[in-house]
Amino acid sequence: MSTSRITKRVGVFGGTFDPIHNGHLAVALAVRDELDLDQVLFVVTSDQWLRDKPPVASASDRLRMVELAVSGVPSFSASDIDIRREGSTYTVDTLNDLRAELGELATLFLIVGSDSALSMDRWKDGDRIPALATIVAVGRPGQNLQIHALDASHPAIGAKYIQGPMIDISATRVRGLLSDNRVVGDLISAPVAEFIEKQGIYG
Ligand code: ATP
Repeated sequence: MSTSRITKRVGVFGGTFDPIHNGHLAVALAVRDELDLDQVLFVVTSDQWLRDKPPVASASDRLRMVELAVSGVPSFSASDIDIRREGSTYTVDTLNDLRAELGELATLFLIVGSDSALSMDRWKDGDRIPALATIVAVGRPGQNLQIHALDASHPAIGAKYIQGPMIDISATRVRGLLSDNRVVGDLISAPVAEFIEKQGIYG
């Protein structure tokens, strides 16, 4: 990674992170390295209006878990920008607020898994997103994203595709294992596992 360039290449990785798992971390590492990003911001959503159920963990606990998971990883950090904004989380707002925070010299890359990329035509003002950030769609097992086959008006039609590590982990599976008191092993990082246990979040 270059430290001398003036423009900063920033990855924006939004998610519910309920909880953050090692699939998220592996995706962010792959994109950071492939696109030579200076920074990856893990932006914790407050209310993800497209999901049918609210998150299990509170926004502050999800933020704390992200902070624990990324601490010590060079160039990774947690952002509470969506939590600080009241109301539902819309990615157009996230990107506009980050632009205001980071300034005109930042180049923004919106990182999404294939499932999220496919759903972008249902996002509020999704058609405005390509003007705000380069969309980077990352492969996810079981999600067959064919960018060239998307409708011409789909926001992800011009996305950059990175296959990435293809790790088959979901937060849903992690929550299921934890609520059954089963071993999550290396699906989540140790500090996150300790925090969950101490707070009794998914028990
Ligand atoms: P849940 O199972 O609760 O729906 P999730 O595992 O999909 O959660 P999110 O926090 O909703 O996690 O995802 C945040 C972003 O990370 C989304 O863009 C999603 O597509 C992506 N993502 C999550 N897990 C993976 C994975 N294993 N591979 C690729 N992308 C992923």
